[in-house]
Amino acid sequence: MFDVIVIGAGLSGLQAAYTAQQAGLSVAVLEARDRVGGKIWSVPLASGRGYADLGGAWVNLTLQPRVGAYVKQFGLDTEVQRLDGRAVMQESKEAGGSYGCLQFTPAEKQNLERIRDHIQAESLKPGPPRAQDDNVTLDQYVRDLGALPKTAKMVNLWAQVMHGLESSEYSAAWFIDYCRRNRGLLAIRADDASGGQHLRFRGGSQSLATHLASLIGPSHIHLSTPVLSITDAKTHVTVTSTTGQTFVSRKAILSIPSTMYKELNIQPNLPPRLRQITDATVLGDYNKAIVCYDRPWWREKGFNGYFASFEGPVILARDTSVESARHFSLTCFVNGKPGRFWSKLPPHERRAVVLRQLATVFNADTEPGSNHEVWKPIEFFDQIWQHERFSRGALAPITALGHYVEFADVYGKPVGNLHFVGTEYSTEWKGYMEGALCSGEVGGLEAVDALQGKGRASL
Ligand SMILES: Cc1cc2nc3c(=O)[nH]c(=O)nc-3n(C[C@H](O)[C@H](O)[C@H](O)COP(=O)(O)OP(=O)(O)OC[C@H]3O[C@@H](n4cnc5c(N)ncnc54)[C@H](O)[C@@H]3O)c2cc1C
Repeated sequence: MFDVIVIGAGLSGLQAAYTAQQAGLSVAVLEARDRVGGKIWSVPLASGRGYADLGGAWVNLTLQPRVGAYVKQFGLDTEVQRLDGRAVMQESKEAGGSYGCLQFTPAEKQNLERIRDHIQAESLKPGPPRAQDDNVTLDQYVRDLGALPKTAKMVNLWAQVMHGLESSEYSAAWFIDYCRRNRGLLAIRADDASGGQHLRFRGGSQSLATHLASLIGPSHIHLSTPVLSITDAKTHVTVTSTTGQTFVSRKAILSIPSTMYKELNIQPNLPPRLRQITDATVLGDYNKAIVCYDRPWWREKGFNGYFASFEGPVILARDTSVESARHFSLTCFVNGKPGRFWSKLPPHERRAVVLRQLATVFNADTEPGSNHEVWKPIEFFDQIWQHERFSRGALAPITALGHYVEFADVYGKPVGNLHFVGTEYSTEWKGYMEGALCSGEVGGLEAVDALQGKGRASL
């Protein structure tokens, strides 16, 4: 019998296992996929010019101390996000780089700044979210504050970029609380040293997970072992896998997104109020298209590769080149409603619409048959996380209207011998890699305390 079984070898599960192991407990990690890392996944380029990060990519070593400590410990190289050059705001499908943000009238700009400052101020306040904000969508919330149409569109863009949903699809309280846990709206949005998108891993972000897995020891991690059922018999927990294996432990830690708890056969059933909130959580449409070129041709036109778009299907893109590896790429986020439609297209059309939008935004020749480099990427990746059997979307589960506040007392709390971790539960950098590590650490210690008889009461 193991002391602790951890289900899932994403960053939260790996950290939970490592924390328990460091406290002297025996652990087994059961992972459905044939790799560790979950929503961090780095694929080597065929050209040999580095990696494409299909999931999480950006970090900030100062603001995210757990990631920072591991980067130092593992000796991982990072690349600063390149900002030199002109960023583009695309307001309509036809608009290219020449439009920029200048299409906002002074009144529209003032309105946007007022609403942004309001959300920033709310997101710096301590304390739990307000019940009244949980019953209203983010879209309605900003309209009630007097948002003009362009401001509402910008808030929708934030929702798409940050969560893969439309602002009309989830609550203002959830959004504000997310900002609160992550040092405010501006830190979430910033690409410089003050924000979450400051650095990337030269060797791919998944190296964080593979190094952490090495600390735990490969013999303790069972890959290609999808968990099917969990039975908590009070004195012990029995976990079975679809591969027909059975594992027994004193405690189990679930690190899969709460949206997926209903896919497991958990006995006895989780308490009704916990099921009510987790059964109704949703994961966003959060997709990436990574377009690799031989040369960073957009820089020659004065662009820095960053653009945001009200129309999509790419709603935001960044230059993700690594100069030393001669890796030149644009990473495009195809999220929210535009991403929902895009993900249903056949692969060649998904590629064509992304390239056409890059051509439009960066003022290149929009004719597919043209000789312009935009139409000749050396590699093209697209990753639709909703199609992933063991993720079903990203970044982190989002609760239904009203549920976040109503069920806060049960959400993420232990039940019998079961503990719950995942970036969704983190009080710091929720939704991020740092959040996954933070939650894993807390959940691992919670299981240690429970085994040593010091635990908080279970539901
Ligand atoms: C496109 C994209 C972009 C992102 N960008 C960033 C970024 O720039 N910066 C940042 O910090 N974060 C980013 N993130 C978020 C970050 O990747 C996640 O917050 C973090 O990796 C989540 O870790 P986790 O352990 O909570 O969940 P997961 O990584 O989802 O781990 C859950 C694990 O459980 C496994 N599993 C599922 N079902 C079963 C089962 N039945 N049995 C056994 N195992 C199972 C899964 O395979 C997975 O390994 C991004 C994510 C995506 C997808």
